[in-house]
Amino acid sequence: GIAANKAMRTLPRVRETQPEATAHKFTRGMVLVFAGPMPGAAGLTAAAALRAGAGYVVLNGSERAPFSAIIAESDAKFGERLDDPRVGAVVIGPGFPAGDELLFDVEAALDSGKPLVLDAAAIDAALPRLSETPRKTILTPHEGEFARAFPQLYGSKIDRAKAAAARTQAVVVYKGADTVIAAPDGRLVAAWPGSPWLATAGTGDVLAGACGAMLARGGDAFDAAVAAVGWHIAQAARIGPGLVADDLIRD
Ligand code: AMP
Ligand code: MG
Repeated sequence: GIAANKAMRTLPRVRETQPEATAHKFTRGMVLVFAGPMPGAAGLTAAAALRAGAGYVVLNGSERAPFSAIIAESDAKFGERLDDPRVGAVVIGPGFPAGDELLFDVEAALDSGKPLVLDAAAIDAALPRLSETPRKTILTPHEGEFARAFPQLYGSKIDRAKAAAARTQAVVVYKGADTVIAAPDGRLVAAWPGSPWLATAGTGDVLAGACGAMLARGGDAFDAAVAAVGWHIAQAARIGPGLVADDLIRD
């Protein structure tokens, strides 16, 4: 385990942070989600983005939107949506199994220059190009995904997270019972303890959506990742025993 980090505890809970008085939906951030065929992942990611504070969410690759306010549309529109200047962050990868099937869409997302949250199979697909053009990027690998993407790294979890951030020039959210968040400039937060009730299917998709919401606000990618992890843990603490991923996105 990793020693408790006070920075995590002092994070404001998103639910308690009011939007500015003059906010409208697009100033709160617009998130474009591109998720895969695994059941539930797309909906959880999009709903989490909305619940974590995004003002507008578009869900690509699923016909079914979890909340009425979410626009669900076919994959074919992804390229078009990437050109929308109001899109403040793109979340790509949740629910995609490992493989090349995502390569084309990840390339398009990289070409758009938008801030990105890359999860699961999208991490592998983006890896060769990540350090090419610095941009706001958050990677959210769990243990298995991290090992697949960075097999050559060794040392403690903190050491490996730092090295991965330096190598990719992205913020790395290395998930697990202890979640290590590392920025390419050396900033680091370890979130411990989280909630072991988060060890259940779909919670990673929720975290990816929350990262998208925080990133779409326009701030720094490391701050966005820390806020998302804080929100995720706070939601889990509020719900407590027996939580399932859907509970994290309910009121
Ligand atoms: P994934 O494996 O992609 O579904 O993501 C699982 C999520 O649950 C991540 O945010 C992990 O950090 C979190 N998580 C999994 N197991 C634990 C645990 N034992 N304690 C705290 N958080 C956990
Ligand atoms: Mg996952």
